[in-house]
Amino acid sequence: MEDELLSLKGQALACLGNAQDNDSLEACRVQYLGRKGLFSTVMRNLGKTSEEDRPRLGKLANEIKLALEQAFADKQNGFTASNNASKNKASQDLTLPGRAIPFGKHHPVSQVMTEICSVFERLGFTVAEGPDIELDFYNFEGLNIPAHHPARDMHDTFYISSNILLRTHTSPMQVRTMEKQPPPLRMIVPGKVYRCDSDITHTPMFHQVEGFLVDDNVSFADLKGVLSIFIAQIFSAKTAIRFRPSFFPFTEPSAEVDIACVICNGKGCRVCKQTGWLEILGAGLIDPEVFKKVGYDPEQYSGFAFGLGVERIAMLKYGITDIRLFYENDIRFLRQF
Ligand SMILES: [Zn+2]
Repeated sequence: MEDELLSLKGQALACLGNAQDNDSLEACRVQYLGRKGLFSTVMRNLGKTSEEDRPRLGKLANEIKLALEQAFADKQNGFTASNNASKNKASQDLTLPGRAIPFGKHHPVSQVMTEICSVFERLGFTVAEGPDIELDFYNFEGLNIPAHHPARDMHDTFYISSNILLRTHTSPMQVRTMEKQPPPLRMIVPGKVYRCDSDITHTPMFHQVEGFLVDDNVSFADLKGVLSIFIAQIFSAKTAIRFRPSFFPFTEPSAEVDIACVICNGKGCRVCKQTGWLEILGAGLIDPEVFKKVGYDPEQYSGFAFGLGVERIAMLKYGITDIRLFYENDIRFLRQF
């Protein structure tokens, strides 16, 4: 009987080794370990053995049975694990579209700045940038704004020292350029400017585009022509424009330029304070005093200059009522542009 048990164990393990899937494994298990299986049949003969052999044979039979049960369980676990793995593989649907990679894009202020620059570039202006940290001379003195000039009050300047400051406008590049080059000059200067001011239409840092042109016989008509083309390109060819007399220390005569309100089309609304007009930039013919400071002969040369706020243009273009939205970096806001 001992031989019988050992041979049965060998057969059962061979059968188990050959099983390729759960079904054949189960068939194998039933054949050897089932209630009517070969193992039970042999065990039934245990009673017929001699009393002295019985305990030893009983113990051996039990050990073999436990070992076989363990071997079947292990093999079954192996099948289950590999089944799960292949199920996971099957659940990958290769026909599904790929996950979209979110693309970044330019900030609305940068977009409008680029658009403004491209209009002037098409008109033959070159683009230059100047330093954000500026000397008092270029920011004020060279632009005909001496110390104690009341115009300095309008600028709410951030001073770094008595002589060095954060530029309050991009106009210093006019002086820096004219110092280095003779006319003719046709240049725009986009960049950040700084003023100690903050509310729904002002932020301490904002963007400006300064433009200037110097040559023989430049007149106010040239300024008007250039700005009319600019406004037609940025807003619409039908947008009405008006020039309103104003004062800047570095231009003479000076004007503020208004466009018909883009919200109400000139009928009058809250945005235009019922006037039907919106101020969008300041401009004028370059003051002869500025030419004198850089060594240009005001009798020979004339020129015009203008400066506009990029955020202001962006707000009017997109109907944005609070300038601070540009700087909150709320992705829901930025995504719309
Ligand atoms: Zn209006």
